[in-house]
This record gives sequence, structure tokens and C-alpha cells, in this order.
Amino acid sequence: MFKPVLLHKTGPQIAQEIQACIGCNECLLACPALAEPITIDVLNCQTLSGSISPAVAHFARSCYQCGACVDPCPVGLHRDAMMMLLKVRLLRSGWEE
Ligand code: SF4
Ligand code: SF4
Repeated sequence: MFKPVLLHKTGPQIAQEIQACIGCNECLLACPALAEPITIDVLNCQTLSGSISPAVAHFARSCYQCGACVDPCPVGLHRDAMMMLLKVRLLRSGWEE
């Protein structure tokens, strides 16, 4: 049976945050879990909809919700919550690496 995953924020709230993202990349520079370069545009798009690339899926699995990406954001966004939504999308899609 599918177990619900708790999100820090709702999907619409996260979509609003992604719209407000200025693409500065500070969140990813601060992230200890990012193993290979991913552009913010690609990450933001795939967080919300469409197919999820292997690199983005790997990053989503690697995110351990440490929150290090939140403080550096100059516009007060929550990349950790965005990543949790992406984890939920991955779970729901049943995507296997
Ligand atoms: S919460 Fe996830 S994305 Fe943010 S810094 Fe930690 S591991 Fe990276
Ligand atoms: S730090 Fe904030 S504004 Fe900059 S790319 Fe990350 S979420 Fe977007």
C-alpha cells in the first residue's frame, strides 16, 4: 500500500516558490549531496512536472533534507521543500535507477 509522505509545504506553495526562484544557484553551491552539476532551470522544471532525468533523480535520492540550501537563498526560498516534492514525484512514478 502507498504510504503518504509528509511535505514541508503544499505542491501549490512549492510551485509559487519555484516561480520566484531567480536561478542564482546559491542553494546548489551549498548542498553537500550534489554529486554532479545540474542546472537550476532543469531542476526547477523537473521538480514540478514532466519526466525526471537520471541525474535529477539521483540528486533527489541523495538529498537528505539537511536544510543547508535554505539560508544561502537570497530570496528566502526553501530548496529542501522543493526537493521533498521531487522525492514524492519520484516515489509516485516508481522510477527505478
Ligand atoms: S536539504 Fe537536500 S538539497 Fe538542501 S542542502 Fe540538504 S541535501 Fe542538499
Ligand atoms: S538560492 Fe534560491 S533563488 Fe537561488 S537558485 Fe536556489 S532557490 Fe533559486
